[in-house]
Amino acid sequence: YQVPLPQNEPVLNYAPGSPERESVKKALAEMRATQIEVPMYIGSEKVFTDKKIKLSPPHDHQHILGYASEGDASHVTAAINASLAARTDWASLPWNERAAIFLKAADLLSGPYRAKINASTMLGQSKNAYQAEIDAACELIDFLRFNVAFYQEIMAEQPQSAKGIWNKSEYRPLEGFVYALTPFNFTAIAGNLPASAALMGNVCVWKPAYTQIFSAQVIMEVFREAGLPDGVINLIYVDGPLAGDIAFSHPDFAGIHFTGSTAVFQSIWKTIGQNINKYKAYPRIVGETGGKDFVIAHKSADAKAVAVGLVRGAFEFQGQKCSAASRAYIPSNLWEDVKKYMLADLAEIKMGPTEDFSNFVNAVIDEKAFDKISKYISDAKTDADVQIIAGGNFDKSEGYFIQPTVIQAKDPKYTTMCEEIFGPVLTVYVYDENKWEETLELVNTTSPYALTGAVFSQDRYAINQATAKLVDAAGNFYINDKPTGAVVGQQPFGGARASGTNDKAGSKLNLLRWVNARTIKETF
Ligand code: GLU
Repeated sequence: YQVPLPQNEPVLNYAPGSPERESVKKALAEMRATQIEVPMYIGSEKVFTDKKIKLSPPHDHQHILGYASEGDASHVTAAINASLAARTDWASLPWNERAAIFLKAADLLSGPYRAKINASTMLGQSKNAYQAEIDAACELIDFLRFNVAFYQEIMAEQPQSAKGIWNKSEYRPLEGFVYALTPFNFTAIAGNLPASAALMGNVCVWKPAYTQIFSAQVIMEVFREAGLPDGVINLIYVDGPLAGDIAFSHPDFAGIHFTGSTAVFQSIWKTIGQNINKYKAYPRIVGETGGKDFVIAHKSADAKAVAVGLVRGAFEFQGQKCSAASRAYIPSNLWEDVKKYMLADLAEIKMGPTEDFSNFVNAVIDEKAFDKISKYISDAKTDADVQIIAGGNFDKSEGYFIQPTVIQAKDPKYTTMCEEIFGPVLTVYVYDENKWEETLELVNTTSPYALTGAVFSQDRYAINQATAKLVDAAGNFYINDKPTGAVVGQQPFGGARASGTNDKAGSKLNLLRWVNARTIKETF
């Protein structure tokens, strides 16, 4: 390696009295005490408008953290133009100079900006300190550093030459701009979607979810301080369909890097198809969409490990991970124990604002999410065939709080076993312990998604059976572990079927989507 061999950023634990806890507390207090005005970043301009988007903590929705300036169609066009104006200079920089900017950004996040990026994620998205640390600090830092190392590997991949023939591969950026449409649930993903394309020499228009603007702005400041030239990444806050219509009908549209819902991704795909004759080249369509992630336990599994995996997998960050465990298949011989351990754990878990560090569960992202998730719970309460065995309460008076809820369903095809809820709701189906193979079949066919899944078993043969049978059911498959928490460089992340294009964030496979390769043969 010529670039530093990346190591995963160590996760700090925020124990009481630790320096990291003190510095994040200070950052939280400062952010609470000030109201910021968040601009859009278009070319060299910080753009303010009169149309304001209110920024509030989901756990305290009456508090105002500040306002972001909302843009309109003219800002989308301006952002596209600014990106195209920056394109030639950016694309012609030697690759390692682009790399240096993102390596510096990683160092800034690891050091001086760590408290700020974590505090903005805790306040803006209601992540607890530990969940913010593994996402906004560590995962984003890892994405930036590992991407540079993968980039170097890509550059080193050259074809064979022969006597009198010199062959070369050139990896250039795409001919146009990349549109990054990013989610609220991972600050790291929001930052990585534009950054990975930009590292490979592309220019980007970045439209984050409105509910992530508070931390997106910190990322943008970090990129600028690290030396990112104006116009390479343009950050705009514009209504999604409006911005999409302009971006996807532009002749220089070169690709989309997306994480979000399946419905939105499918509609984007259709729009791109309808516009196909307008573009210079076939756009790259890279997306990670939903999940209905399973945990299946075999009769040989350790009940306690299953319970811990379910509680952490289903309820960390309020289940708002595409990877969250949301349907569990537990054998009848283990169920009483799994239930006992789960209920004991859930009884210990506290729910409340992120700023009280003892709260494991915080608020869900906004009112729309709250209403959607709580409706599933209300429906379950009135259904005689299902039983709520934990949680079930919700309250949006101060923040969008939903208790971690476990539903037991008699029917393995009950709504909450099949539909993505994206909240703290886990549904359990208890199966006859002798029907292992039939249950594997059920897991494989119940949901259109294929993002993550886990098997718990102490029987190697059963593990092998599950691994083989569920080969297409999950892009990330976990054995004796929860189905969440992929680490960059260790478990490249993504799934197929309705879960996305499986281009594996945090791997060379993803970066290859952002290059345009040219093969040159020279004869002597
Ligand atoms: N990479 C995350 C994990 O492994 C999930 C990402 C997502 O929710 O989109 O838990």
